[in-house]
Amino acid sequence: MLTRRLFEENVKTQRFEARVLSCTEEKGKYHIELDATAFFPEGGGQPGDQGELFPGLKEDGEPVKVLDTREKAGVIFHVTDKAILEGTEVLGRLNWDKRLRNMQNHSGEHILSGLIHAKYGYNNVGFHMGSDAVTLDLDGVIAPEELPEFEWQVNEAIEKNLEIEVFYPTREELEHIDYRSKKEIEGQVRIVRIGAYDTCACCGTHVERTGEIRLIKLLGLQNYKGGVRISMLTGKDAIDDYEKKHATIQEATHLLSVKPDQVDSGIRKLLEANAALKSKLIAFQRQVGEEKASAVLEGTKKVCFLEPNFQNDELREMCNKAAVKAELVLGLLPIREGMCQYVLISTRKDVREAGKELNSRFQGKGGGQPSMVQGTLMADGEEIRSFFLDALNAE
Ligand SMILES: [Zn+2]
Repeated sequence: MLTRRLFEENVKTQRFEARVLSCTEEKGKYHIELDATAFFPEGGGQPGDQGELFPGLKEDGEPVKVLDTREKAGVIFHVTDKAILEGTEVLGRLNWDKRLRNMQNHSGEHILSGLIHAKYGYNNVGFHMGSDAVTLDLDGVIAPEELPEFEWQVNEAIEKNLEIEVFYPTREELEHIDYRSKKEIEGQVRIVRIGAYDTCACCGTHVERTGEIRLIKLLGLQNYKGGVRISMLTGKDAIDDYEKKHATIQEATHLLSVKPDQVDSGIRKLLEANAALKSKLIAFQRQVGEEKASAVLEGTKKVCFLEPNFQNDELREMCNKAAVKAELVLGLLPIREGMCQYVLISTRKDVREAGKELNSRFQGKGGGQPSMVQGTLMADGEEIRSFFLDALNAE
């Protein structure tokens, strides 16, 4: 039986009563079919609604969670965490906050797509409502510099508080309507019209007037499959996004001791200072490495450098220099408690056997060539050093 679609009769229905027609288990979840529902099923880029069903119309009882809503051939089913017996009367309650956000984003996207279509004739070929942003894909290219103008125009349409009409023209009427998203649809076509801004075939839910969108913010644009992908947010999502970004900037101004509009230059200065410190540190490591390597006596059998304040390249450089005089040189760089990076070098013998012995003793990983192996070992540096100097068979 086709499900009666209460969201078509009144898009603002948040609570309703219905009867369970069927309930089947699917992969640990349940698919519940009702005789009527206000839950919108996933479609046209808009996600399926979430919410709750209360068996026996008891709103103070334990609810059955609606995790998603889908549709198959006109039958809407609710994906739930628990089963409900066939024939049970239920009270349905939507997660209205989520649905309102979806409607705001969907209506905002229509106005934007309509404006771009009117100017360039491009089509919206992909629409996705993600958790961080809504994206729309166009089959043509626009420049990033054009976004502010489009954003301003959509906000102007919102300010006009225009009615968003939904209607079902006959086949004949449809022939005289110029609309976007023309596909060969069997059966009734549903048209969503927003004043002169946009007319589009669409199955989704929309706010009733543009003012309910509140605002739109275009976040960015990237090249995508020969066209562009625009990221945007509207209404509550846009305000939440602003709050989040505002808090981040506040924190950054506090940490950097700069004004909000100086955060970027403050970070740049910090990066420059960091780079200068890094090159000083490298110079210092090289100097220390030079001194330690030259202090190694000619003909020493085994040398180990345990250097927590070194970086990889500088440690290897030091070991290479020491290997001119010593037979076998191990460099250890602790990266956290119980874990070291290592490099094992010799100019006179094949070090791969000794490397294997270290790996098997300290659950290590790594390998290399006869003259050098490197990798990681699972132990503290002191423990590895003692083993290497006292126990490792270096013959
Ligand atoms: Zn739509």
